[in-house]
Amino acid sequence: MTTQPLTHLTTIGGSQPDKVPRSVLVIYTGGTFGMVYELKTGQLIPFNFGQVLDFLPELNRLNFNITIVATSRIIDSANMTPAVWVELAQLIETNYGQYDSFVILHGTDTMAYTASALSFMLTDLSKPVILTGAQLPIGVARSDARENFLTALEIATAVDELQQPVVPEVCVYFNSVLLRGNRSTKRESVQFNAFVSENYPTLATAGVSIDYNSPFIQPYRTGQSLVIQTALDPNIALLMLFPGITTAVVDAILSTPGLRGVALETFGAGNAPTDGWFLDALTKAAGRGLLLMNVSQCAGGRVVQGHYQTSEQLARIGVVSGADITLEAAIVKLMVVLGQEPGHDEAAMIRLRTRLAQPMAGEMSID
Ligand code: ASP
Repeated sequence: MTTQPLTHLTTIGGSQPDKVPRSVLVIYTGGTFGMVYELKTGQLIPFNFGQVLDFLPELNRLNFNITIVATSRIIDSANMTPAVWVELAQLIETNYGQYDSFVILHGTDTMAYTASALSFMLTDLSKPVILTGAQLPIGVARSDARENFLTALEIATAVDELQQPVVPEVCVYFNSVLLRGNRSTKRESVQFNAFVSENYPTLATAGVSIDYNSPFIQPYRTGQSLVIQTALDPNIALLMLFPGITTAVVDAILSTPGLRGVALETFGAGNAPTDGWFLDALTKAAGRGLLLMNVSQCAGGRVVQGHYQTSEQLARIGVVSGADITLEAAIVKLMVVLGQEPGHDEAAMIRLRTRLAQPMAGEMSID
């Protein structure tokens, strides 16, 4: 994958002179959306996004001011890192006063991780931040890029009768549905309906009109100033359970040098083997100050520790229930929570577990 720094900055003006047009900052990060087929190799490579108007002349006819900037590296989102999340959060913070809303063009592979990260990093957000992308490059005739981008812009600029943003939170818009960002998961790599939200309702559906599911959208909060959290600790691991998992694998993961947190990907409603060696390994890891979170392998439903005997012990060991959180949100939440709390003494562990168990940005529903 080649990367290319993009220096173009395009400003496209609104067209209705009688109204003050809403302003949107579009941040281009890469992904299939902005790729073209290289003639020689037939591989997908990023195109110069400054030429987006060649592909989407209708941007000129929209009644909002659009400014397009790019992150410092244009990437396939498989190369996403926490450093890029920090760059995105800082770009939004720097431009927060100047723009009414933000649209992020992003590869689909890790879009749900980035959306989760931004939902935790942009605290007290009161403006829309909509991530979108495409399954087919914008230069391809049947591409979904055009519809996804234009509708994401429309949603980002939608206001209610009080001129307040309709969706003042971090969302993913894709293939006619608007999802809470930290509830979204990429479930499809071939069809256009790439994203789902198993445990939280769709926030809007775009057909002939865009129907907003208002009771489920974060309400607009007045008088909030954006504060960004940029401390993320990537020293976390994912321990996915499977029948037959060996002591060697579990020990190797739990004894990773520098490790501070583990998302334990359990069965069903949060169940795990009750074998002595396994519970011992977890007890020792918790004793060493590892923050453990129980996330189910089932995309739908929730972790209920203690519902079965096979999860009762986990709660006793201090494993925090992830309730109905997605794996993507759980991983990023661990990084954010650990980034904010560098200590591992008993008091710090209590604070960490408490923070992990509480919803930070609507990413989980607790009873
Ligand atoms: N590999 C691409 C990416 O995530 C896939 C896509 O954009 O759909 O950047």
